[in-house]
Amino acid sequence: EQSGRIVKALSGYYYVRPAANPSGSGSDIQCRARGIFKKRGESPLVGDIVDFEETENGEGAVNAIKPRSSELIRPPVANVDLAVLVFSVTEPALNLQLLDKFLVHIEHAGIPAVLCLSKQDLAENGVETEEAAQAIRDVRRVYEPIGYEVIGTSSKRGEGTAELKERLQGHLAVFAGQSGVGKSSLLNALVPGLTLETNAISNRLGRGKHTTRHVELIDIGGGFVADTPGFSQLDFTELGIEELGSCFKEMRERSSSCKFRGCTHIHEPECAVLEALERGEVSPSRHANYVLFMAEMKEKKRRY
Ligand code: GDP
Ligand code: ZN
Repeated sequence: EQSGRIVKALSGYYYVRPAANPSGSGSDIQCRARGIFKKRGESPLVGDIVDFEETENGEGAVNAIKPRSSELIRPPVANVDLAVLVFSVTEPALNLQLLDKFLVHIEHAGIPAVLCLSKQDLAENGVETEEAAQAIRDVRRVYEPIGYEVIGTSSKRGEGTAELKERLQGHLAVFAGQSGVGKSSLLNALVPGLTLETNAISNRLGRGKHTTRHVELIDIGGGFVADTPGFSQLDFTELGIEELGSCFKEMRERSSSCKFRGCTHIHEPECAVLEALERGEVSPSRHANYVLFMAEMKEKKRRY
């Protein structure tokens, strides 16, 4: 028996890259899952670390799945340990509300996030240079003090891509961000020889709910990235309204100093978060988005 990682799932087959022979798809073993998984209602996921054995005719069988450190629903990938949230500095304009929403879900999943600000070249050489330059300043000012790493890139100029690639070493990462922010272009810049289609709006629409998406891990040399540049939303396990505050890092860290247990950090007296907001230590835009998400969750009376 050997161990390896599932790098692709297609038509009932799992393609396992042996841990002993990790370089390149040439070594992948095409495996079936043992019937036992089906009986238990489990199924292997791309990203899973598995025990497998080679069977006759060059194929293999997955015998066991190692416990997962995380599990995404959409894209269906296990063991993701880094999320790269891609936002372009312009075209489309930076949307801090969407950024905070992504961060809420990432924090809830317990996955570390890196913020990637793409299309930096447009801050110097574009239609909205001033707006773009301001967006870069805003993101660094608001998110770096909270502890999020910000990496600026330009796939067009090949800037920041080496830094991003270095950050991905040893990780299984997903890229998330609105369509058009440059995720495919970034991946192409990271991996020599990769030719993901860029600007593929129609193609992307074609991959709607009714089409089965097969996920594949892209080997970036020392790390993996899930090949899902088309998705704009990450689906995680559902979030309860009482959990929202803990998904804002800077609020979570301060909430133990709030006077009231279960403080919502919206109207309570002696709230450490509101006091920090007043002192300018918590960003007004972050707090406003928190209040907005809370209201949305209440109004919809559903879980996020
Ligand atoms: P995706 O939808 O997030 O995968 O975005 P794409 O990679 O398909 O890129 C969308 C559009 O932005 C394309 O027209 C790209 O040529 C353009 N683009 C991507 N990266 C850059 C960049 O670094 N600079 C500039 N100026 N344009 C870029
Ligand atoms: Zn509070």
